[in-house]
Amino acid sequence: MPSGLSSGNYNETRYNLAVAGERAVDVLILGGGPAGSTAGTLLAAAGLETVILEGERFPRFHVGESLLPHTLPLLDRLGVHEAVRALPHTRRKDGASFVSHDGSRHVVYWFEDAFAPVIPHAYQVRRDEFDAALLANARAKGADVLEGWHAGAPRWEGKRLVGLVVREPGGGERVIRCRAFLDASGQSSFLASRMGWRFPYPMHRKVAAVSHFKGVWLPPEREAGNITIVLADGGWFWLIPFADDTVSVGAVLDVEKWRASGGTPESLFSAAVQATPEVARRLEHAERLIPFSAVQNFSYRVMQIGGDGYCLIGDAAGFLDPIFSTGVFISTTTAASAAQDIIESLMRHGRVDASDLGPTISLTRSLHRLFFSFIRAYYDRHFLAFFFSPTDASRLTAAIVSLLAADVVRPGRWKKTIRFRALQGLARVQQVGARLGRPIVEPLAAGPTSGS
Ligand SMILES: Cc1cc2nc3c(=O)[nH]c(=O)nc-3n(C[C@H](O)[C@H](O)[C@H](O)COP(=O)(O)OP(=O)(O)OC[C@H]3O[C@@H](n4cnc5c(N)ncnc54)[C@H](O)[C@@H]3O)c2cc1C
Repeated sequence: MPSGLSSGNYNETRYNLAVAGERAVDVLILGGGPAGSTAGTLLAAAGLETVILEGERFPRFHVGESLLPHTLPLLDRLGVHEAVRALPHTRRKDGASFVSHDGSRHVVYWFEDAFAPVIPHAYQVRRDEFDAALLANARAKGADVLEGWHAGAPRWEGKRLVGLVVREPGGGERVIRCRAFLDASGQSSFLASRMGWRFPYPMHRKVAAVSHFKGVWLPPEREAGNITIVLADGGWFWLIPFADDTVSVGAVLDVEKWRASGGTPESLFSAAVQATPEVARRLEHAERLIPFSAVQNFSYRVMQIGGDGYCLIGDAAGFLDPIFSTGVFISTTTAASAAQDIIESLMRHGRVDASDLGPTISLTRSLHRLFFSFIRAYYDRHFLAFFFSPTDASRLTAAIVSLLAADVVRPGRWKKTIRFRALQGLARVQQVGARLGRPIVEPLAAGPTSGS
């Protein structure tokens, strides 16, 4: 009996988990990335017997190094904020900078300009260090972390998921049964891929090529810590600086560019750099530190994200595009919500039904809807013209900054979304104006959509 759940009717209604030779736990989590370790920390701290199954051994490389301010309160709640701040490569980030492909347009959004209450900074983190710190924290809080273990197949009893067949590091198979299963398997989206619930976005087929460099030109003063997004034909670059001035540089491009460039991450990256004068300038004296890696097919939605005994959290529940660095925020936020739903439902009736996961499912859907429409707007060059011409009128800039900071869960979200919708409306007026030769703001010479 978990110590944190000693009240309620947990004992009376628990269905029989114990099967000879099989391990039975309260919660089984697949994946030790930010989603899995967040949920694992909170569940174990609540006294539930929690296993995190992770195929890799940490630290391991991962893309996704720029955090958003409104992730920080959750890091506090997990008790890992100080550890993250103290990691060797963690760098303070006060805002996000956006630059046109030739450097002629440049806008900086500072987090301090958001609607109150302001969280004025976030961090750039090296994900090998960050993910390892979060997973170590989950272990310290009592989760049983099994590294080098792989998920085989889900176990169903009717439509209830009751466990997984897992492969041990030595190759042997065994079954781990659970009251609740959290799929935090990231882009591989373990359950959705097996069940046919995962669908790519046909209009948004991107590929990313990434490496780390030293000797990259950085802007002066406090802008040096910002993430910089540079527009490119058919996509965009990120430049994310770490504490030692090494920089993660990634190109996110239409998948057609991948084929046209020769099909290796290096050829894709080099062709894009040559076509983007601002990035070529910043990388002129740069030296690559690690091999290129590529991430493909990362834009997909998942039709079913929760059911009896299971919930999908983080990237496993869907992903569109990393332009606004929303991935870790969504992953940790949905993970914390799922942990709460599970704790409450095990207290209430000793099992987790689909209806118990309603809050997490609707939170996930609403975060996807909001951020995905923000991301889509970014790929609309008429919206982008406003994005590059910030104005204080009607606090439009504060609304954009609040979205960029991920201040989207607290009450008062309408203040930002209504202004964002107004900007989308203005983008349509700009489109008509541009067609008539009278745009409202100066149009951009090139946008992130091929040929735009
Ligand atoms: C190109 C690109 C750039 C990005 N940039 C940013 C950014 O700047 N900021 C940001 O916040 N987000 C960014 N993201 C998104 C971010 O990387 C993800 O949202 C985040 O890592 C999701 O966390 P997660 O815990 O859901 O999954 P992951 O971090 O991917 O963790 C999943 C874990 O599950 C394990 N696993 C998977 N399958 C199995 C299995 N069968 N058995 C055992 N273990 C398994 C994996 O080994 C992995 O460790 C970016 C994404 C992309 C594609």
